[in-house]
Amino acid sequence: MNNSKIWLSSPHMGGNEQKFINEAFDTNWVAPIGPNVNGFETDLENYLKYPVAIGALSSGTASIHLGLLILGVTNNDEVLVQTKTHSASVNPIIYVGATPIFIDSELETWNLCPIALEKAIIDRIEKGKKPKAIIAVHLYGMPYQIEAVRAVADKYGIPILEDSAEALGSSYKGQKCGTFGDIAILSFNGNKIITTSGGGAIVTKTKALKQKAIFYSTQARDLAPHYQHSEIGYNYRMSNICAGIGRGQMEVLDKHVALRRVMNNFYVNLFKDIIGVTVLTTPNADYFSNYWLTTILIDPMTTNGISRETLRLAFETENIESRPLWKPMHLQPVFEKYPYYGNKVAETLFENGLCLPSGSNLTEEERERISAVIKKVFVGS
Ligand SMILES: *Cc1c(COP(=O)(O)O)cnc(C)c1O
Repeated sequence: MNNSKIWLSSPHMGGNEQKFINEAFDTNWVAPIGPNVNGFETDLENYLKYPVAIGALSSGTASIHLGLLILGVTNNDEVLVQTKTHSASVNPIIYVGATPIFIDSELETWNLCPIALEKAIIDRIEKGKKPKAIIAVHLYGMPYQIEAVRAVADKYGIPILEDSAEALGSSYKGQKCGTFGDIAILSFNGNKIITTSGGGAIVTKTKALKQKAIFYSTQARDLAPHYQHSEIGYNYRMSNICAGIGRGQMEVLDKHVALRRVMNNFYVNLFKDIIGVTVLTTPNADYFSNYWLTTILIDPMTTNGISRETLRLAFETENIESRPLWKPMHLQPVFEKYPYYGNKVAETLFENGLCLPSGSNLTEEERERISAVIKKVFVGS
């Protein structure tokens, strides 16, 4: 039997990516400017539907960095961020000289807990400083509690930076993720729902803010024939080659979302009779997840001691990648000195949770291999 590696999530090309790249070569737009960059931005703006103005950048991390700058976050400010996330949600807070304040998850979507969020805001204000921004993340494609988080943010007048790196194609009450924050970001890294090999985007509400982001991303050049600078700039613009891949990927985005959702359903069916394992699914019909990754919780108390490590190692033996859920940021050596507010929900999820192979390109044979491991671990045959 074929034993080639099954990845958690790997690039899945649609077919026209190379056509756009060839056009870039044929017209010599091999630069961080050109028709593919503009075309990709327009494709994204049309896809999100809501009135947005989008700048294509070199990564999701760079987009968060510029998002914080645009929100005016600077030295000694505090930024509230969900602890259960990728380190890239947090690192840019440090880049701008601010302090991350970590917030626990709720159990419904595993994202930012609105109750812990409000407790933290009240406490930070009492301690003398109102936080400057909130970074909320749609982990694994699952929308966070959009309305509850927005209500807290508005009550205290704090802007939201929506980290939609994993949630392109997800929506809440029919409105696309990436349109809920005061600023939002997307990522097109190699393992995301669509990829440009590496890239990201900043989603703003106005053309002026988009221009501001592009200004920062292209070395902050003032209007002058020579190079003239009044502000610190960055080299964060997306290349016209990468944007060509993005244009091709946009043609298949909805198809790939549908395939990821098929994978989620595949796991729901596999685990439905296995006691002690729950597959994370949307809490109600208001939520639509792209199911970028399907995630499960294994409770070793009800599985006779089978833990997420038991399953992870069994997958590893069969050359199948799976991964524990994000380790909370407040437990990371580099961030453990910063404040945390919550009740250890994110910790428990980390201990018992596993991300499963979820690519839109998994074959029937690969699904058989995955299914065989799960049956062997839980049923013993
Ligand atoms: C991938 C990811 C990022 C970073 O995006 P890059 O394009 O890899 O820089 C940020 N936040 C989350 C939640 C991510 O999953």
